[in-house]
Amino acid sequence: MTELLSNYLNGTWQTGTGAGTVLTDPVLGTELVRVDATGLDLAEGFAFAREQGGKALRALTYKQRGALLAAAVKVLQANRDAYYEIATANSGTVKNDSAVDIDGGIFTLGTYAKMGDTLGDKHFMLDGESARLGKDPLFQSQHVLTPTRGVALFINAFNFPSWGLWEKAAPALLSGVPVIVKPATATAWLTQRMVKDVVDAGILPAGALSIICGSSAGLMDQLQQFDVVSFTGSADTAAVIRSHPAVTQRSVRVNIEADSVNSALLLPGVAPGSEAFDLFVKEVAREMTVKSGQKCTAIRRILVPEALYDAAAAAISARLAKTTVGNPRNESVRMGALVNRAQLVAVREGLEYLKAQASVLHDGSKVALVDADAAIACCPGPTLLGVGNAAGSDSADRIHDTEVFGPVATLVPYRGDNTDHALQLIRRGQGSLVTSIYGSDPQALAQAAIELADSHGRVHIISPDVAALQTGHGNVMPQSLHGGPGRAGGGEELGGLRALNFYHRRSAVQASTAVLDQLSPAV
Ligand code: NAP
Repeated sequence: MTELLSNYLNGTWQTGTGAGTVLTDPVLGTELVRVDATGLDLAEGFAFAREQGGKALRALTYKQRGALLAAAVKVLQANRDAYYEIATANSGTVKNDSAVDIDGGIFTLGTYAKMGDTLGDKHFMLDGESARLGKDPLFQSQHVLTPTRGVALFINAFNFPSWGLWEKAAPALLSGVPVIVKPATATAWLTQRMVKDVVDAGILPAGALSIICGSSAGLMDQLQQFDVVSFTGSADTAAVIRSHPAVTQRSVRVNIEADSVNSALLLPGVAPGSEAFDLFVKEVAREMTVKSGQKCTAIRRILVPEALYDAAAAAISARLAKTTVGNPRNESVRMGALVNRAQLVAVREGLEYLKAQASVLHDGSKVALVDADAAIACCPGPTLLGVGNAAGSDSADRIHDTEVFGPVATLVPYRGDNTDHALQLIRRGQGSLVTSIYGSDPQALAQAAIELADSHGRVHIISPDVAALQTGHGNVMPQSLHGGPGRAGGGEELGGLRALNFYHRRSAVQASTAVLDQLSPAV
């Protein structure tokens, strides 16, 4: 029998009483560990975090909490090798792809540790300036932000077991709010190991960080008025969370990061073979293949002027053809596996669904796997689809509506030099996490960015002058907002200090200037 991972709740490590769910290696098919949350006393665990963890965290200042995050960063860095081994085994990712998750998570935690330092020795924040309430300036209103006195429950997706934890935990803990994380079952091992390392190092106060691996049953029921829940995952599960009585009746604050049909836009006037064109091709191929396309920010729709359809198809296909696929333990492999067989099946089904309205320009199903048995390994090759012409882009509704969570994207031509048509097609994604725009005319790039800003959490612009500096379409930087309107879930995460808002309550204090002056030491 494989090892049964412990949960950490109520300040103690406890194993579930059930047989557990087995986590497997998606390349070799071997069994790794089991997770189970049967029999945990959730009410007691949530109360412990809320009361003990919250109280201890709130007693510290932002600066002190930032120092705790910095100490956690050191612990995680010291154990990086173990995390890479777990990622290889459980997520089937090559080293570079594991880094996006592991080092991306540690980097984000470190960024918030530094922000804590800048916030100083304070326990709450001022929000804006004080405002007069009448003619006489003596009586004024000042908004304050104080940490919510509840727990932050994180329900996370399988594709980022490390980054998904730390990008949420960093702003929560810095705000003074205790965290309970429920990782997606398929990849819970890495999250569990990271939490275990930080907990066992004794850095955080008791109750500040807890983990429940296994079933989500009953978690939402625990949430009370001042708790918050941050969910990342599919639109279907998001709907379940949103309609739970904790949200509809107890006003538990909720943040949703759901699926997204992201786009890349090549502006008119870019010649094939030019630097801007090559940057576009390189970024699209990279985004399709990083983490085997299992990134919520990955490019799914590629918009090009109709006249460049063939040139773009050839250039992107040529790059994809160079992607070696298979066992991530082999140094020559560039793209590893999907997380499990269920995802492989879902990707294959999604492809068939899209193929009813698009043709195959580069066929990933023909790829020869390196060091992996195609009958066992969940390793699809990258597939580029295309809708042929601008009329096809209008009529192929499935490509605008469907997120295939794997190395799959569709080339979508727009009419002539008609940027408006391209923007209209992009908006058919109904709200996305990110779009990237390629070209070399700053005015045209800026104009397109503003046109797309309201329907995207992030607009990433790649022009030749920033070729070596740009941080990548799909990379989520802690300084920038992560989240998107509409079908992307309507959530907002990161964005520097903005992330702390979710974990604070805003309140207006109306008082004499003498009283409000007492608040001024706060930031
Ligand atoms: P999922 O099936 O919705 O699962 C997400 C999480 O919800 C898992 O922890 C899951 O637990 C839990 N869950 C399932 N049913 C639940 C319920 N009834 N109540 C409470 N929790 C429940 O999504 P996924 O397949 O893991 O993730 C893939 C999706 O996430 C993709 O669509 C992707 O676009 C999206 N995603 C979005 C972002 C973003 O930032 N916007 C980032 C990454 C992924 P179990 O694993 O135990 O079932």
